[in-house]
Amino acid sequence: MGFDVRTDCTACRVESARVETWDTAHPACRLGLPYAVRCSLCAHAAEAHLADLGGAFPGEGCPKCGATLDEASLDAHRCPHCGTHASLADTSVGARFGTEAELELALLSWAKEEGLATSADLLEAYFVLASAPEVLASLARGDRVETTFDVADYLFSSGGTSAGGAGGAEPIVLRASIPPAPVTTRMSQPVSIRPTGGAREELLALASVAAADGEASLEDQQGLLRAAEKRGMPPLPPFDVRVWRPNEIPAPGTLVDRERVLEEMLQLAWSDGQLDASELRVIKDFARAWGIDPQRVRDWIDAYDFGASGPLERWLRRFAFFLFPAR
Ligand SMILES: [Zn+2]
Ligand SMILES: [Zn+2]
Repeated sequence: MGFDVRTDCTACRVESARVETWDTAHPACRLGLPYAVRCSLCAHAAEAHLADLGGAFPGEGCPKCGATLDEASLDAHRCPHCGTHASLADTSVGARFGTEAELELALLSWAKEEGLATSADLLEAYFVLASAPEVLASLARGDRVETTFDVADYLFSSGGTSAGGAGGAEPIVLRASIPPAPVTTRMSQPVSIRPTGGAREELLALASVAAADGEASLEDQQGLLRAAEKRGMPPLPPFDVRVWRPNEIPAPGTLVDRERVLEEMLQLAWSDGQLDASELRVIKDFARAWGIDPQRVRDWIDAYDFGASGPLERWLRRFAFFLFPAR
């Protein structure tokens, strides 16, 4: 199984800037090392290098001798039985940002990766520091630059031990950054105090997932068609199939409705067999705006995938900020 993971960049020291590519069948990954890494900001890149790998041993465990590796061995990327080990070799050194313009360019390119339009959007969505000059000054001092990708981890990591591992998410801090939940309607609807979404609004939320990674795939479009049919509605016109922001769409009136729609969004995201970062971001934004209990979202994620995850994936969850199946 292949997947990507976000961790802190060792070159520019920006939290969660590094995307690691894993494949549980790859010899390096079986030794606890991603086979490729790349920083979304400074573009530092590296590939796994394997020492002393004789004939490859199939399956899981040590790629040379097949021994089951414990967590300490995975941490050390070394098999204690046969001595084979893996390390990362740089293929591209990280950029150093001398001017605000250089940093802006790099931020913009990262923003595009996340499906965002501008560097300001990226800063607003994921950085603790508010502006490019502040980030530049922090980088120049060699400080660790904080990001809030761990909010996503808190919402979406499974395995339950979100407090463990490097930079583990602290729910108290995270709660402070999550806006309060919209008020749930419990009695009969008062007349238009606040508009609530109906079937069309639900379809727009689903369309946001379908369009999250640029264009709606065939599976996504079929999923949208089925969702419209189920509601006895005509399909959405193509110009409505785009990423809507939660504040553009009146939320479904009850918490039960919001949870139902969100679960449907997750199903749609998973319909092509992969959940990518942009789809996760859309779902996370709606979950937060609609006041969904993060534990509910984690339960759904568990139900959909990772049920068959092996010891390697479980080990990864200790420190990874972002985990989703890759192509
Ligand atoms: Zn970096
Ligand atoms: Zn071995």
